[in-house]
Amino acid sequence: MNVLVIGRGGREHALAWKLKQDGHNVFVAPGNDFMEGMTCVSINETDVEALVHFAEEKEMEWTIVGPESSLMAGVVDTFRNKGLNIFGPTKAAALLEGSKAFAKEIMMEAGIPTAAYEAFTDATSALAYIEKLGAPLVVKADGLAAGKGVTVAFTVEEAEAAVRDIFTTDKFGQQSQVVIEEFLEGEEFSLMAFVSGEHVIPMVTSQDHKRAYDGDAGPNTGGMGAYSPMPHLVEDVYQEAVKTVLEPLAQTMVKRGTPFEGFLYAGLILTSDGPKVIEFNARFGDPETEAIVPNLKSPLLDVIEAVVRQESYPIEWSDGYTMSVVIAAEGYPDRPITGQVLSGFESLPKDVLVFHAGTTKKSDQVVGSGGRLLVVTATRPTLLEAKTVVYEAISLLDLPETFHRTDIGSRAFTQII
Ligand code: AMP
Repeated sequence: MNVLVIGRGGREHALAWKLKQDGHNVFVAPGNDFMEGMTCVSINETDVEALVHFAEEKEMEWTIVGPESSLMAGVVDTFRNKGLNIFGPTKAAALLEGSKAFAKEIMMEAGIPTAAYEAFTDATSALAYIEKLGAPLVVKADGLAAGKGVTVAFTVEEAEAAVRDIFTTDKFGQQSQVVIEEFLEGEEFSLMAFVSGEHVIPMVTSQDHKRAYDGDAGPNTGGMGAYSPMPHLVEDVYQEAVKTVLEPLAQTMVKRGTPFEGFLYAGLILTSDGPKVIEFNARFGDPETEAIVPNLKSPLLDVIEAVVRQESYPIEWSDGYTMSVVIAAEGYPDRPITGQVLSGFESLPKDVLVFHAGTTKKSDQVVGSGGRLLVVTATRPTLLEAKTVVYEAISLLDLPETFHRTDIGSRAFTQII
């Protein structure tokens, strides 16, 4: 089949790699310089008209959407209106990610367990609420803020500063609302699913590492590494999350007249009262995608077609574990350095995958052009083996002016041992 993937990062590289493995003719818009065996088309993710035109002209049988910017630009709505097959949520359904206040409203309506909260449109009432509640608490800018809109505040002063930043600066983009919520304690995990209307096909679990440095120190980032599945998460908790979060969410979106179709991502915390939702994303997570996709044995489009047709599907996963480690530019997330030359890729074992994100090819060299540069990924029968292989592979590379976490997966190991 002719398949179009929209996006350019590590997540889209992993999706395109899987589709290629499944035997499809893969196009990526705009893609990046290192998507071997795929055809990159220089169309921007948000150029909806050009994407539609390309899909019609080149007869794409499916289009898969990676980034949220494409969803918010209405790419799914326009493709659907033209009768083109596309897997992703409409603009109305993508608001689950686009507005934290909207997501909270839906969770209340669906009875989905989440942190207690209030939403405010002015700083004075938000500050009064913080004063009343006391720390710790979590302050969230309502709209998309490139993964940086959340402040976990351990003091009232930190929370107040976050509210002031949201309303009086453009540090988090243009924001008109803030959500203030209860601080939850427990093990974080990600659960993604293929969803169409009320039909949900859950994926295996994964765990992201959001902080920049080892030991969960440093600023929040888009994600510094992930592994899948989580060996220490018991089946009962997984089933509970499917039943109390994914299924009621899908049903409530249908009831409200904005059915969700696409990859649904639930960020969860396993509290002493069971799993609770931290956030929803209306797309595949990054770098969770890189850690999940290599374990998917079933052809990706077969699962998508089954969920869209509301059919059950015996989704198959490998028995192994995958670990993905992000190589980021020095200075990321605040002021990433660009222009570093990365090398040594020819010495990597054949089955170590390198998904490219912020890199470009200049005179046949791999050159850094953004914050998160590469995602080095290995699959092995045990998580410990996957970890050993992935870090050995990284040690074979020459990666000046970059950094990476050396403790991806450590929570799983402390629990197993
Ligand atoms: P988000 O962008 O919503 O995923 O939040 C970023 C990070 O902030 C999460 O991965 C959590 O570590 C933390 N966080 C968000 N909400 C809460 C909460 N209610 N309680 C504790 N930590 C939270």
